[in-house]
Amino acid sequence: MGVSLPASPAHASSMDRIHELLENGFPWMAFPSDMEQQFQQDGASARARHFLLSGLISLLVYNGFLLADYLMARDVFWMAVELRLLVFTPIALLALHGFRRGSMPWLRLAPPSIVDVLALLGGVWAAISLAIILMMSHSPLIFFYPVGFIVVITYGNVVQRLRFWFAAVFTGMLLLIYVVGIMGMPDFPARLLWPISSMVLSVAVFTLSANYFLERDERRRYLLTLRERGLVRDLSLAHTRLREASHIDALTGLHNRHHIQEHLTLLWERARRDGDPVSLLLVDIDHFKKFNDRYGNPAGDACLQKVARVLLDSQRRPGDTVARYGGEEFMAVLPRTDASFAIGAAERIRQAVEALQVRHESSTTALHLTVSVGVVSCEAGPHLTVEQLTAAAEQALQQAKQEGRNRVCSLRV
Ligand code: GH3
Ligand code: MG
Ligand code: MG
Repeated sequence: MGVSLPASPAHASSMDRIHELLENGFPWMAFPSDMEQQFQQDGASARARHFLLSGLISLLVYNGFLLADYLMARDVFWMAVELRLLVFTPIALLALHGFRRGSMPWLRLAPPSIVDVLALLGGVWAAISLAIILMMSHSPLIFFYPVGFIVVITYGNVVQRLRFWFAAVFTGMLLLIYVVGIMGMPDFPARLLWPISSMVLSVAVFTLSANYFLERDERRRYLLTLRERGLVRDLSLAHTRLREASHIDALTGLHNRHHIQEHLTLLWERARRDGDPVSLLLVDIDHFKKFNDRYGNPAGDACLQKVARVLLDSQRRPGDTVARYGGEEFMAVLPRTDASFAIGAAERIRQAVEALQVRHESSTTALHLTVSVGVVSCEAGPHLTVEQLTAAAEQALQQAKQEGRNRVCSLRV
């Protein structure tokens, strides 16, 4: 019988959803919750690697600013060393170490946003250390120091590429820390307030919008990948169905002539090599044209389905194969089967069709539906081809018809 693959409505609706998201976008930078979860999971390991690498680079840059501290805020230089090197760096190194492959397996249990939380905390700490230095130093050059916030904002929004909502919160927090830092400075010159603040603010706006577009593109790429995977799946499913359909008879669900011929050719090759016996049965419904004429084509179809069922039920061994050979003819291929067993099988089929007791009042053979069966059995060998074998089965069937139908005739070749 045909194996029909289950249609998957879930798959179809998820493809619809992907198309819709690609077409209409995703408001608030989020997918529907199940897809969002998958997106976060799928991206987690790449993001952890990115966090580790750009975290290390940022840490180097952060400590490199000790030189700026020395030049601009020499009076609090040792405090800067403490804040940067002694407090933050060991904590940051420990957090980054956790993301080295397998070094802290428990981190895998944390949600993917752990990366954003840690990167955000690192950036906030860097901003706080800037604000502390700003407020503590009395150096005449310290008024230019707030431009350092630009570096920290760029770190979070572009270098670490925090997820957009984290980046928005991060930017807000940084601007707040900036304001607190400036207000906490003993006497910040009013003329510098706007130029420096406008620089910090515009970098905040630029980097946050860059972050937005980067994440939007990343999400679109993800959707395109999902769509591609879905299309490949659809294609291979369609391919399998097509292959199946080309081997299955639509009315009865049995294999079709094309399939059984292919099967017989392969089987014949093997049987020839091993010298096994092979038997072939051709089953033909008697006076089927008259049946159609009397009871109509739909009744004829139902009748073909019943006979197909009989043939399926007649299969005794795993290698037996039955097919609709055409019209009202069926074929059974019985490997490693000799004549006596094959004649027995054919007789059982004939009797089972009679036992259906399908009325056929136009038949000149009986009052019910009957079949004639041609059987051919042989030892597979080089002297015989598949075509000769099939022709012999047809000859045996003709003989059964001529001898009065509703009978089994056999030939040995
Ligand atoms: P015989 O006893 O000699 O085998 O005679 P027959 O009428 O069975 O054989 P014939 O070859 O003259 O006619 C076969 C009929 O089978 C003709 C056609 O209408 C019918 N048939 C073939 N395929 C189908 C089908 O898919 N559905 C239906 N209902 N009838 C079919
Ligand atoms: Mg026929
Ligand atoms: Mg017939």
